[in-house]
Amino acid sequence: MLLDLSGILRDPGVRESFDLTLDFSDMVFGGIAPAQEPVKASGEVRDSAGVLLLDGELSTTLHCVCDRCAEPFLRETVIPVHAVLESDPDSAESDDIWTFRLTEGKADMDDILRTAFVLNMDAKQLCREDCKGLCCRCGANLNRGPCECKPETDPRLAVLEKLLK
Ligand SMILES: [Zn+2]
Ligand SMILES: [Zn+2]
Repeated sequence: MLLDLSGILRDPGVRESFDLTLDFSDMVFGGIAPAQEPVKASGEVRDSAGVLLLDGELSTTLHCVCDRCAEPFLRETVIPVHAVLESDPDSAESDDIWTFRLTEGKADMDDILRTAFVLNMDAKQLCREDCKGLCCRCGANLNRGPCECKPETDPRLAVLEKLLK
């Protein structure tokens, strides 16, 4: 989706707002597609002393899988979006990931908002801060209570126990 900013380029006093619903369900992170629900994007673009600034946010409910206990869970998320839009086609290519070039006075919103989404994805997803994870021996989910496994005995202690018998 392209956002036409010719109004601002003509008159710096103009603000261009946007309110979009996006589909990021094709984006996969570690084998999981978290954006299974529509992603809402809203914000505005304004001219700040000759620089076009885009400010807004993305919001959606992410479908996650816990990295520790492998349980699926839902998480509401709001992702801030702040970008600089380069309107001068002759300017040097910026290597700042938050700077996007306009094409014929239009901003590629899909590109900008997808970048914001990717950069804000946490590398690790936990169903809760203190997730106890899975038992490394029987695989039971320890959030549901302790498993049947006996606590590991230190092999050196086991030798001692044998000697004592
Ligand atoms: Zn978990
Ligand atoms: Zn166990």
